[in-house]
Amino acid sequence: MLPGPTLIITCPRCNAPHRTGTLQSGNTIGAVYWSDGKMVAPMLPEEPSFTKCTACGSFCWVSDMPQVGQWAPWDDAPCRDPLSFDVAITEIWEGHDPIAERLAVQLGCNLQEAKAKLHSLPTVLGQDVARAAANALEKAFGELEVNVELTPCRVSTEPVPPEWFKLADIPFLSESDYMTALEAGLARNVEDEVFLRIAAWHASNDGFRDGNTPWTPYAERNGSSVENLERLLDLLDKTKGASRLMSAEICRQLCRFDEVKRWLDASVLESSTYYDESEKSSILHVAHVILELADRGDSALSQLNLEHE
Ligand SMILES: [Zn+2]
Repeated sequence: MLPGPTLIITCPRCNAPHRTGTLQSGNTIGAVYWSDGKMVAPMLPEEPSFTKCTACGSFCWVSDMPQVGQWAPWDDAPCRDPLSFDVAITEIWEGHDPIAERLAVQLGCNLQEAKAKLHSLPTVLGQDVARAAANALEKAFGELEVNVELTPCRVSTEPVPPEWFKLADIPFLSESDYMTALEAGLARNVEDEVFLRIAAWHASNDGFRDGNTPWTPYAERNGSSVENLERLLDLLDKTKGASRLMSAEICRQLCRFDEVKRWLDASVLESSTYYDESEKSSILHVAHVILELADRGDSALSQLNLEHE
């Protein structure tokens, strides 16, 4: 595992700075997998995607927290983010035509002019643009198999605020925090809502991952924990094998064992869509485990052994 820079990001509401780690590379050696889909991998540590400001308590998506600085592992001290960037295409790996079309829109020129610009790299996409705009350009053109380079344009000469040396990491949230955020309308679309409801479910189960704590069935938990799972069941895209497996596991944890069998029926799994053959074989393996547990009337969270397929 190779850590990347620690990013200094701020609360969109009160500007309080926080820190979050990044990874340059990682792997799943020593990973532990659970029947509710959670994976804990020591060599692939997860960072929150949704969090709560430690200063003002407001909830926010980490992608909405502006980056103001970073602290690379090889640096003695954090540094301020550049105030702006020049953005350019420096390499093209695939066909020019789709890139020229996007470039013409970006620069407001015609297709011929855009094509001509691509013949003499680097091609400038933007000058003196803020971090968010530079990253948006990098993402839009990066999808077209080109290398987009961000070069700092204006840099601040102000010293780094002393508090940056001792910032707190952005926190993972509790089940009740996720539920409060959902009630407050922090999910911007169905995808967000599914993400937050899965996060709430995993948080609700986190107390039972230590191998010692006896399982508390959902019927004995807070009503909102059950409502969360029922709503998640409604939202999952049921054409995918992965979603059918998750639906089955939700039903199992809710002690609706007959429904588990319906979700994991051999013909249902065969007609599902999969990302690739490797995903399909993992899902079929876990489906077998979940069916066995359901047959025994067991609703408890289970640690999976995926290494010995
Ligand atoms: Zn705040």
